Amino acid sequence: MECGARVVTVERSAAAFEAARRVLAGGVNSPVRAFKAVGGVPRFIASGEGACLTDIDGNAYIDYVAAWGPMILGHADERVEAAVSRALARGWSFGAPTELETHLAERVTAAFPSIERVRFVNSGTEAVMSAIRLARGFTGRDILVKCVGCYHGHADALLVQAGSGLATFATPSSAGVPKAAAAQTIAIPYNDAAAAREVFARHGGEIAALIVEPVAANMGLVPPGAGYLECLRRLCDEAGALLIFDEVISGFRVAFGGAQELYGVRADLTCLGKIIGGGLPVGAYGGRAEIMARLAPDGPVYQAGTLAGNPLAMAAGAATLEALREDGVYAQLEARSAKLADGLAVAAKAAGVPACVNRVGSLLCVFLTSGPVTDYASASRSDTAAYAKYFHAMLERGVYLAPSQFECMFVSLAHTEEHIERTIAMAAEAFAEVGGRSHAKPAGGKASKAPSAGGGR
Ligand code: PMP
Repeated sequence: MECGARVVTVERSAAAFEAARRVLAGGVNSPVRAFKAVGGVPRFIASGEGACLTDIDGNAYIDYVAAWGPMILGHADERVEAAVSRALARGWSFGAPTELETHLAERVTAAFPSIERVRFVNSGTEAVMSAIRLARGFTGRDILVKCVGCYHGHADALLVQAGSGLATFATPSSAGVPKAAAAQTIAIPYNDAAAAREVFARHGGEIAALIVEPVAANMGLVPPGAGYLECLRRLCDEAGALLIFDEVISGFRVAFGGAQELYGVRADLTCLGKIIGGGLPVGAYGGRAEIMARLAPDGPVYQAGTLAGNPLAMAAGAATLEALREDGVYAQLEARSAKLADGLAVAAKAAGVPACVNRVGSLLCVFLTSGPVTDYASASRSDTAAYAKYFHAMLERGVYLAPSQFECMFVSLAHTEEHIERTIAMAAEAFAEVGGRSHAKPAGGKASKAPSAGGGR
């Protein structure tokens, strides 16, 4: 079937979801896959190839989720498949060092000048959790500062929401997170330099680290304002705190060297995931040798993993990074993504649907609000009911978007000009269905990855 054709039936997916619900919690292994924010039948995927996904009913979609980021080359890329097959044939887990780990580490450290040593783990969550422990072990301090609307995985200290006042400690945003875990975290608004200055003025000497997504990609897509990352860098330097960039999404995505290359600001510790595993389970964290030397076995900060540095994941990651080094790769992503973003903005406008399209490289988000969207509060003004309508109108037409307003569209190297044009044409129809009413909503909607918002991965 043609990729991006009208959906015929979803009977098999509906039955598969019923079967899954009988044995899997909520029918899924990560909440967003259940389509709770938009309703309807989650599509069970049979296969992926290039920019296309085929579900078990045989419908074929142009995919803009890309497994939530890793599939920047497209699905079932032959180079990655060959590398994984070669590794597979030699045995796939040893619990002992392999050269594949060094090969991937060499590629990561070459791309990120701020990373002299790296440690591989199994997920982005694990990378962030471990980086925070290391920052605390290195500085001898406990307080962590994070930004509201940035998602860093589901470790206790990060499943928090802002306290009642600026520069006060956070409260848990998920059941099961002890108050004590949240009590060491302060949440400040993203892109608000004054708030960051205030928190450092009040708590500077106690802050172990500030963690931020340098390009916020978990409240839709919100680029850093001019000078914001530089301000965070300066505040951390002055306070002797570590600056942690969570580049799990932005790493190798917005540029080969991530947001650090794009904006010219270096982190002390960087968290990576997604693309560096080419779609297999991987996370990583790294930084200056002096900081990483605090990790066991050289130092006193403990962190370990039975499957860490898994040969298949290392091979997939190395093959992916190799492919991304080819000439013109990021220029192609930029051109196709710019065309898509412009086309979607024009289509929404023509249909009279208030929309604000934010984009950094091949990450973009169509916020259904007139915008501008610069932080969590402005992202929260999006009309989530209108998004659900838009999402289903696109899905019916064979375009697979994230089933939540507060996620990015991911453009891959497998998206052709034709895919982009077709997507824009489908969006014109979808926006017409959504209609031209005013969808502005007062602030206070949920843009959080907190489970209470039905979000999260
Ligand atoms: N950090 C960021 C910026 C993320 O986007 C995510 C997940 N999307 C994570 C951390 C957690 O990664 P994982 O889902 O692999 O645990």
